[in-house]
Amino acid sequence: MPMRWTVASDVDGTLTGDRAALDRLAARLQKLRRAGTLFLILSTGRRLEQVVSGMAEEGLPEPDAVLCQVGTEIYVPPLSLASRPLGAWRERLLAEYSRDEAVSFLEGIEGLVMQPDVFNTELKTSCFLDGCPDPDGAAAEIRRRVEPHSGAYQVVWSSGRDLDILPASSGKGKAIRFLVESRGLDANRVVVAGDTGNDAAMFEQFGMGVVVANAKSELVALAQSLGEGRVYRARQPYAAGVEEGLEHFRVLPATSSGA
Ligand SMILES: [Mg+2]
Repeated sequence: MPMRWTVASDVDGTLTGDRAALDRLAARLQKLRRAGTLFLILSTGRRLEQVVSGMAEEGLPEPDAVLCQVGTEIYVPPLSLASRPLGAWRERLLAEYSRDEAVSFLEGIEGLVMQPDVFNTELKTSCFLDGCPDPDGAAAEIRRRVEPHSGAYQVVWSSGRDLDILPASSGKGKAIRFLVESRGLDANRVVVAGDTGNDAAMFEQFGMGVVVANAKSELVALAQSLGEGRVYRARQPYAAGVEEGLEHFRVLPATSSGA
């Protein structure tokens, strides 16, 4: 039987934030996975080991695939600290990305601080801009520098703090698209969920999205621009908002309990 739905959810601030709500959502998602009607993707800026520990300690649901480091790495079960990212995706991205050139776009930006080494990989160049005199202005300057090279690179600006330079073909949205195509999933039955700007690519790529009530204004603004019907703005925050949205799109059967 083909998978009926694909749900791709961000982790931090989308699934996490309310443990009781996450436990309830995780149990409902697990039921669908066991029935074979759900393919669950966790789509995150985290590293794999932080996802694996989150499954043990934070109640993250067991997924069918994990996108790490903002969609530059894809992992499939069995998930462990020894897991290697999917080779086909890695090689596709390596063909267009030069780490040295990506770093060169950041030169001389006042107040910029590189993120810790573990978040800077062969396919992801990441810094913090919250120490800049004008973080949005600094992000705009970096975008301007990258623009002539947009065939190879893209800029993701998120939370007024995190800026990533990624391969043009990567990002959360395109990584999910790759999984949908390579796994034979139905692209018309994908629901995404998120809370910040680094989730925007998922919303642009797919027809149905859930914005949790605690979402940052950058994602709310994008959601509004995509128009009615495509995006559901939950009244509740965190996992309760995801659950509400999945009921709205009828991935989960509606409950009468509300909040
Ligand atoms: Mg988030």
